[in-house]
Amino acid sequence: MRYIIARLVSFAFAMASFFYVVTGLWRWWLYGFYDHSAPVMLLIAGVFFCGNCWHYLRMTKYQTQNYDWYRSNHPDSIYRDSVACCTCGARRIHVRALFNHTYTREHFCTQCGKTLYYSPEGR
Ligand SMILES: [Zn+2]
Repeated sequence: MRYIIARLVSFAFAMASFFYVVTGLWRWWLYGFYDHSAPVMLLIAGVFFCGNCWHYLRMTKYQTQNYDWYRSNHPDSIYRDSVACCTCGARRIHVRALFNHTYTREHFCTQCGKTLYYSPEGR
């Protein structure tokens, strides 16, 4: 549930910053290049927009690349009791939490460092 909220919030922020980009452009068109607040506002809004889009896409990636995704893409790396790395074949897979309000854990290979899949926190 927290996972869905985090995704919704990042989507809402992306939309809000998109609104600021549009109003910034409108101000620029209305007052011309002599209004110095317009380009500054556009720059800030643009940075926020890109940042939020990036965050939203990342959240989508975390939800898509889960255990089921890994199992269907690398069936040779799945054993009855454990998961192996699809790159080097090592069976030592560790979990670490990703912060930044993503509520996501990353399952990675301890030998080569490759991220295998993601899972939501608290499961
Ligand atoms: Zn590996």
